[in-house]
Amino acid sequence: MLPLEQLVRKNIWSLAPYSSARDEYSGKEAHVFLDANENPYNAPFNRYPDPLQRELKAMLEKVKGVPTENIFLGNGSDEAIDLPYRIFCEPGRDNVVSIAPTYGMYQVCADINDIECRQVLLDDHFQLHANTVLNACDKYTKIIWLCSPNNPTGNSLDRDEMLKIIESFEGIVIVDEAYIDFAQQLSLRRELPTHPNLIILQTMSKAWGSAAIRLGMAFASKEIIAIYNKVKYPYNVNLLTQQQAIEMLKDPYEIDKYVRQLLQERNILMQSFSELRICEQIFPSDANFFLTRVTDAKHIYDYLVDKGIIVRNRSRIQLCQNCLRITIGTRTENNELLSALRQY
Ligand SMILES: *Cc1c(COP(=O)(O)O)cnc(C)c1O
Repeated sequence: MLPLEQLVRKNIWSLAPYSSARDEYSGKEAHVFLDANENPYNAPFNRYPDPLQRELKAMLEKVKGVPTENIFLGNGSDEAIDLPYRIFCEPGRDNVVSIAPTYGMYQVCADINDIECRQVLLDDHFQLHANTVLNACDKYTKIIWLCSPNNPTGNSLDRDEMLKIIESFEGIVIVDEAYIDFAQQLSLRRELPTHPNLIILQTMSKAWGSAAIRLGMAFASKEIIAIYNKVKYPYNVNLLTQQQAIEMLKDPYEIDKYVRQLLQERNILMQSFSELRICEQIFPSDANFFLTRVTDAKHIYDYLVDKGIIVRNRSRIQLCQNCLRITIGTRTENNELLSALRQY
């Protein structure tokens, strides 16, 4: 890996971050707070929340096995995806490399930040080859984006190929593990101590069933996390989100029940789906959704919308011609989908 100072934009490296009232004073004993121009009434909502979410991170440290100094929390993964562009990439000059097809936010954030996003096609099995990704990089490539299990394809990327990229690339490698709780494959979290250029993204939006609260996580070296903290909005995770996440984390095994149930429903739905006349191909899934090639994606999509059932039409995406992405719902919802399609 190149020295961090060489990878980070000059203005960010030398940035003096905003120092909020709650940053400057974080002791425990005080009881009169006249430092932040808050209203003394309407507790607890009158007070600014902890800018570093210490209580929540302490619980995540236990659940994830990652020290708090290696954790960044953001307003959804969206924030953790946007920040590295602003930290590492000089607009109009630098570029990033991502796989394709993959999650659309990497490209959108690149466009917003005026950064070129080079897309490297996966193979016919939606699998990753390290060399093709590495070959797309040049001296202006700051970040490589990987997503495993990948969206919209559903499969996990080959772990050895991912590690080869992380070990060969001189810049930052970000692995989005939004669906890792559903996967057979293990998280790359335990590779963090030995791979200082690795950033891992996770979220409470999927397996934790908490998309509404907007809580995304980045795990990385404490040096990278310190820069994330310097660049983020001071109070980027609001009090209600912190409280609800803490509530969820008190019972971390609850999500195992969601995961077990959804994987069981996924297997049942994929089996029945594969027997439908409209189904031409189902791609293997390591997530709470699957991708399928159907006879006529556009028409089937519209037919389902008419019945009040919404799936995701991914037909226009590279390698996904005539493909629908289907999220696993409850047994009842899945059966409603199947019976609608049997009448198609
Ligand atoms: C759903 C999803 C996320 C979650 O984003 P949030 O902003 O945390 O809700 C992140 N990455 C991928 C690939 C996803 O599919």
